[in-house]
Amino acid sequence: MNAPHRAADASGLDEAERARILAKAALFAPPPMQEADGRRDLVGLSREELADLMAAIGEKPFRARQLWHWIYHQGERDFAKMTTIARPLQRLLAERFVVGRPEVAAQRTSADGTRKWLFRFRDGQQVETVYIPDREEDRGAVCISTQVGCTLSCSFCHTGTQKLVRNLGAAEIVQQFMAARDSYGEWPSPKEDKPRLLSNIVVMGMGEPLYNYENVAKALKILMDHEGIGLSRRRITLSTSGVVPMMDRCGAELGVNLAVSLHAVTDGLRDELVPLNRKYPIAELLAACRRYPGASNARRITFEYVMLKGVNDSEAEARELVRLIRGIPAKVNLIPFNPWPGSRYETSTPEAIRRFAGIVNAAGYASPVRTPRGRDILAACGQLKTESERARRARPAA
Ligand code: SAH
Ligand code: SF4
Repeated sequence: MNAPHRAADASGLDEAERARILAKAALFAPPPMQEADGRRDLVGLSREELADLMAAIGEKPFRARQLWHWIYHQGERDFAKMTTIARPLQRLLAERFVVGRPEVAAQRTSADGTRKWLFRFRDGQQVETVYIPDREEDRGAVCISTQVGCTLSCSFCHTGTQKLVRNLGAAEIVQQFMAARDSYGEWPSPKEDKPRLLSNIVVMGMGEPLYNYENVAKALKILMDHEGIGLSRRRITLSTSGVVPMMDRCGAELGVNLAVSLHAVTDGLRDELVPLNRKYPIAELLAACRRYPGASNARRITFEYVMLKGVNDSEAEARELVRLIRGIPAKVNLIPFNPWPGSRYETSTPEAIRRFAGIVNAAGYASPVRTPRGRDILAACGQLKTESERARRARPAA
């Protein structure tokens, strides 16, 4: 008999695997969202949790709705300015709660308009968040992080050289976007059809989002809530290195756009580049893509493919890629490798990238080449770590 095969989603095997992944994530839980003086941060609570908290101080459920509107629609942080709330309650709220943001440890804007923040949370941990403006239009995507470090160690990724320190909480994930909005003065939340600079979110910063699923899911639900920030799920793209059992849940529960870090067309090479492949090999990964809910020509799955000179960039590999993804509504995002100090790869030549893209394109798949952005401020993919490390070292030890 063949070795047992981790079959489709409904199987008990996947359920057990999901439970294991969630239990492991809990070991890296974030600290409580509380100020040193005990005041609790209201950001990151679900609507129900906020209502419960109001009930606990004897307030009616509509207070929670009002607060939600102030926090997520108006972007207001000062209870005294929440004019629909009576003074005595404003004072009580200010005594017990805060509407938090991370500290901006550093901020830089690149010549191409890319802006990068180094955010510091209450326990001193830092992550980077990047705003990447669209080249042609007045909009852009905020790239948010989900973990401090990463448990996976993809051989071409700089973040992967930093061990997982901890998961980010839902609040910390939402607050990256809120702080980015503060920086651009984009409150209150405009209507969905109104132009705004921070129009999209890509969950492609530090960390593997599907290894911190519960916090990521909670955060994305807050970001998508119609009475608050109100970003539609079509404007959110989550990138995974291929945590197959969680992809099903992500599709069913969140329905955001999916990006998959493929990077190789044989298991042998992918085992080396994305070691998670040993657990969830290419065939299983692609099966999960085929059943991803809502994948259609209007909502394609993005396959990310980092272009490594002489490693994965041949014409034969381009043809194999096309064969592998046949039937999946997809586009292929070719990412020229961004080198970092000590990395063992080189970027493919423009000629190799052009040929590779040509083959993928001719097979009917859009194959945009991602132009490196913000290189001058080390904000391009995979480079997010350097500066936060440097900043950490420069800080005197506690
Ligand atoms: N952990 C998730 C999301 C964060 S990484 C994932 O792996 O998908 C976001 C994207 O940047 C991934 O496609 C990743 O493979 C890519 N990436 C990482 N390091 C890179 C580098 N040095 N050059 C180019 N792309 C890189
Ligand atoms: Fe982690 Fe993604 Fe980097 Fe791999 S590419 S080490 S999964 S952040």
